[in-house]
Amino acid sequence: MTKPCVVIGNWKMNMDIEATRKFITELPPMLSPSIGRVCLAVPFTLIKTATDCARGTEIEIGAQDVSLHEKGAFTGEVSASMIQDAGGVFTLVGHSERRMYHQEKDSVIKDKVRRAILAGLTTVVCVGETQEQRDKGQTKKVLLTQLKEALSSLNQNEIGTVFIAYEPVWAIGTGRSATAESAQEVHGVIRNYVKEIWGDEISSQMPILYGGSVTPETIQDLIKMPDINGALVGGASLKVESFAKIINISRETKL
Ligand code: PGA
Repeated sequence: MTKPCVVIGNWKMNMDIEATRKFITELPPMLSPSIGRVCLAVPFTLIKTATDCARGTEIEIGAQDVSLHEKGAFTGEVSASMIQDAGGVFTLVGHSERRMYHQEKDSVIKDKVRRAILAGLTTVVCVGETQEQRDKGQTKKVLLTQLKEALSSLNQNEIGTVFIAYEPVWAIGTGRSATAESAQEVHGVIRNYVKEIWGDEISSQMPILYGGSVTPETIQDLIKMPDINGALVGGASLKVESFAKIINISRETKL
């Protein structure tokens, strides 16, 4: 069975309209042909520009977060249908920066996941342990709690549109990527959890991405691991050269 290969750039609060146009024009000719998906999670204000520029290319545009509400008096929020209206086809949910700086609890993440799925957005659920939790030997417990909270209410059809991103909090933006072996171990735990609830077919097809200081160097070993289907890339997705390299290495390794 072919394993999906998905690389998502997470631009966080970076880039502007001009830089977006330049990046999306330059990226496609740099990519080696292959099956797989290339996605960019851009700031809300850039979704429309990014979508217009990416038309006719393989690049898919999405958001970094979504409101748990459908519409109404929620100042500052952006709904799933607004993301779609601007051209977005996916969203991240539960990124550790949302959990940390915006006090997003598992119950909120669960509602966001449901809202995004109901609207028809591919939903990338981010999970990960802190350094302290890892040091205490709680990694597996923490991840299973996060996954259970976010996903357990989803039925067979709904779970089919979910990607999972394992992003150890201590590895994000620190230059300290997890080793390929330790990431594989966690990805195996995640895949087993999905298999136990939704079965073999769903679990073997689900893209489980690694995130946290992914670079053209660190991706080389990570992507060789059987349960790592791609990457969620922060810092290195801001430069078109390094992002293209990460995609090409991933594709060529997974061929
Ligand atoms: P990083 O960020 O690649 O800069 O570590 C990854 C992420 O937060 O998605």
